[in-house]
Amino acid sequence: MKNMFIEEIVGKVGEEVELYGWVDSKRDHKKIVFIDLRDRTGVVQIVGGEEFKQLSSEDVIYIKGLVKKRPEKLVNPKIKTGTVEIEAKELKILGKSKVLPLPVNTEGYDIDEEVRLKYRYLDLRRPRMTRNIILRSKLIRLVREHLTKKGFIEIETPLLTKSTPEGSRDFLVPSRLHPGKFYALPQSPQQYKQLLMTAGFERYFQIARCIRDEDSRADRGFEHTQIDIEMSFVEREDVMKMDEELITSVVEEMGYKIKQKPFPMITYQESMKKYGADKFDMRTEEDKKNGILAFAWVIDFPFFEKTDTGGWTFTHNPFSAPLPKYKEQLLKKENIGGILTSQYDLVCNGYEVGGGSIRGHEPQTLQAVFEIMGYKKEEIVQKFGHMLEAFEYGTPPHGGLAHGIERLLMTILNEKYLREVVAFPMTSGGHTSVMDAPSEVSDDQLKEVGLKIRK
Ligand code: ASP
Repeated sequence: MKNMFIEEIVGKVGEEVELYGWVDSKRDHKKIVFIDLRDRTGVVQIVGGEEFKQLSSEDVIYIKGLVKKRPEKLVNPKIKTGTVEIEAKELKILGKSKVLPLPVNTEGYDIDEEVRLKYRYLDLRRPRMTRNIILRSKLIRLVREHLTKKGFIEIETPLLTKSTPEGSRDFLVPSRLHPGKFYALPQSPQQYKQLLMTAGFERYFQIARCIRDEDSRADRGFEHTQIDIEMSFVEREDVMKMDEELITSVVEEMGYKIKQKPFPMITYQESMKKYGADKFDMRTEEDKKNGILAFAWVIDFPFFEKTDTGGWTFTHNPFSAPLPKYKEQLLKKENIGGILTSQYDLVCNGYEVGGGSIRGHEPQTLQAVFEIMGYKKEEIVQKFGHMLEAFEYGTPPHGGLAHGIERLLMTILNEKYLREVVAFPMTSGGHTSVMDAPSEVSDDQLKEVGLKIRK
């Protein structure tokens, strides 16, 4: 078993070590052959003899060798292990490599997306991509640690579920046991996390997979993962404060600087006046150079907006409560365009990196929202009866929020595309990495789920 990463050898001068990794590069000086051996933690120079001539780039090898200090003038300050090199005593080839179809020792931004995603398992060898994926793992670990310390319980919610109205199209899954009926993949765990508040868990979080059939864009895809949070017995400011502590501690722990603390807060009205949008970038050119993160809260959004057909729809989340002073108007369905919601959005460097609200935890509030949107009584019962019923059995006031991990990480790392922080993303045309989905299925499979394809 491999029990040492390459970055650890700096402290092992004078010792014999066993290393495993990939041949990053080879320099053949006739009698001596130098290679750089790479693993996910870095590279180290190996000095070998004749038998190293057979090696090619990206071969996987085992080396036993002596760690030696490099003479002062041969130190390479560009790599972590630049003060040492390994004098090879034994070499084993564990996996040969053909010439790669794409270079992996560059940043990779100039390589065609289709090629990068077809060979994603190679593309991920690129140090930038390896780093991004490792930082993603770190971010999630820090979130888990912080929230667990604060009394949050991590709970999984179903992936096969019923359609949630979160403003996107659902991905549907046909049921084999109930032909003609469908599950929907969750756009978010919104309803389940609220039901967990009824259940009495009080503080919930989940690193939740969410699936929305959206037209894909640089900062939006079919699948994303969110840090999903819900808490009971809170008001708007409590959730914002809890979240601000979370975000601050996590990004600072990752080594990034925040422009302003506490995060500035701006109303939707002011934001539209000042920036012409509800997300904005407060960084100076200097901040941008230094990788500063400029977070801000946006609050006081209108609850509803007009639809093309003259009705009303929600702007953010139908499960939100209005701000307390608009509660009466909501129940009476008056001044609909003027009702403000308890929604809060977190903005960073021009992106929306999170958002949530205090929820309407009384059945009549939720009922009124759906009535304003033009749902008929039976339809409300059919679609949301389970929520209305749950709210009749002692549901505490509650609220929460969610952060799209990809959006957050892409902002922190100053990447332009979501796919730069996802191990196996979809292409912009909606094809999976490496495996070629969506793909056709056999007639038998279709028959089993009771479907027929219309030509
Ligand atoms: N469900 C919301 C979303 O996915 C977040 C929330 O309000 O908690 O955007």
